[in-house]
Amino acid sequence: MTQADLTSRYSAVMMNAFGAPKRVFERGEGVHLWDADGKQYTDLLSGLAVNALGHAHPGVTAAITAQLGQLGHVSNFYASEQQIRLAERLAALTGDVGARVFFTNSGTEANEAAFKLTRLTGRTRIVAMEGSFHGRTMGALAITANAKYREPFEPLPGDVTFVPYGDVDALRAAVDDTVAAVVVEAVQGENGVVPAPDGYLAAVREITIEHGALMWVDEVQTGLGRCGEYLAHRWSLSVAGARNEHSDDEGPLGDLITLAKGLGNGFPVGACIATGAAASLLQPGQHGTTFGGNPVAAAAGNAVLDALEGGVLDAAREVGQWLADAVRGLNHPLISHVRGRGMLLGVVLREEIAAKVADAALDAGFIINAPRPDVLRLAPPLISTREDLQPFIDALPGLLTSHA
Ligand SMILES: *Cc1c(COP(=O)(O)O)cnc(C)c1O
Repeated sequence: MTQADLTSRYSAVMMNAFGAPKRVFERGEGVHLWDADGKQYTDLLSGLAVNALGHAHPGVTAAITAQLGQLGHVSNFYASEQQIRLAERLAALTGDVGARVFFTNSGTEANEAAFKLTRLTGRTRIVAMEGSFHGRTMGALAITANAKYREPFEPLPGDVTFVPYGDVDALRAAVDDTVAAVVVEAVQGENGVVPAPDGYLAAVREITIEHGALMWVDEVQTGLGRCGEYLAHRWSLSVAGARNEHSDDEGPLGDLITLAKGLGNGFPVGACIATGAAASLLQPGQHGTTFGGNPVAAAAGNAVLDALEGGVLDAAREVGQWLADAVRGLNHPLISHVRGRGMLLGVVLREEIAAKVADAALDAGFIINAPRPDVLRLAPPLISTREDLQPFIDALPGLLTSHA
């Protein structure tokens, strides 16, 4: 079947939630994908910051396959060692021995779990950020700033106040002793890859402690190595690719941390981690999930963590820095600046041509996207090498100029 045939079948049967698909893919391996017509692409988007280890990673594939052949699903009336082990490893990332984990199937569900936990503080007010994205369920939408996503579905749950991202004074003015939680991203990926300014997350920590509110950090996109650290919010430098060697000791620690995208390398799995007093908020019967944390999903998560231990984060920091510098080094008149951390970069353009440039890149065999009209997002697999990415650097000036 050709892509044209498959695209018309798609449109005849799928709800029109995503528009017409730009391509129909058939196969992936490492940093490459092949469409149904056999054309090869270099993936610089990783299925929206998901395929951190690239496509068809042998370790993840073997772990999922072996677990499915041994024990696929038992429900949360029961447990499996895979699940317990993944929870232990995720909890350990926080450095808090009291940390506790709730597994989900997606990022929005991880945030939904966190949202419900905030209600158990006895407070209902949430302070969220302008420019935020937290997912598409009603709860996650309630704390997502984008009016286009929210308005058709109002009224949304909750008592939510939005403040400008990065503005400490505005946050201080909005948070009082009635606030249950402040929800924040270390880098706002969907808003065009906007990192929190230096010191902002530490200020969020300080202000929430002062008022007895929870600090809820959405690491769905930024976590697990995407920004060069396991938890991007513990990394206090904003310089792309630079590393704070002491981040794990010095960075603030959220009370609620949500993860998903990179956790399963494409297998659906998410997690809500609670630290400190928040770890004991949830009582039996107050939340649940049929699939969340099933043995296969947990095996995928464990295989990803195994692979990340093998120097992947160091490589991601180094190649991410190189990629940012290589784009800057083009000195292209249409490029204003490059921002982000690790392997999550935003190329800010001087004109609103990002969608057209992303389409042209696809035609040229490079997968990127345009989270904003003037921003290109680069989120290649963490295992990408300079050699993998150099052809994109070579092609970018031509892609930009032909759309100005
Ligand atoms: C993608 C994303 C979500 C939603 O995750 P889904 O798995 O699509 O539900 C939530 N928060 C952030 C920061 C994200 O990037």
